[in-house]
Amino acid sequence: MEDYKEPEDEADIYSEESRSELVEDGEMSPEEEGFMEGFEGEGRKIVCAKCKKIIIDPDVAIEAEINNEEYMFCSEECYQSFKEEHRDE
Ligand SMILES: [Zn+2]
Repeated sequence: MEDYKEPEDEADIYSEESRSELVEDGEMSPEEEGFMEGFEGEGRKIVCAKCKKIIIDPDVAIEAEINNEEYMFCSEECYQSFKEEHRDE
C-alpha cells in the first residue's frame, strides 16, 4: 500500500459533513456555504431559510417541515416562496 496518502488538510474538513448536507438540501452557493462556517462556536443563530435574515425572536418565526427537513422562516411570505421552490424535490 505504498500509494496510500493521508488526507492533506484535516482541519478543512471539520464541518464538511454538516455543510454538505445543507448544500444538498438548499442549493446553497459557495458564498452562502462560507457564511455558514461562521455559525459554529458562538451559539446557533437561526436564520430565515429563504432570505437568510437572522431571526432574532424564534417565537415569531414560522417553523415548517419541507421534504422531511425542518426550516425556519422570518415571514409567511418567505415560507410560501421557499415552499414553491422546493416542492417535488
Ligand atoms: Zn425571510
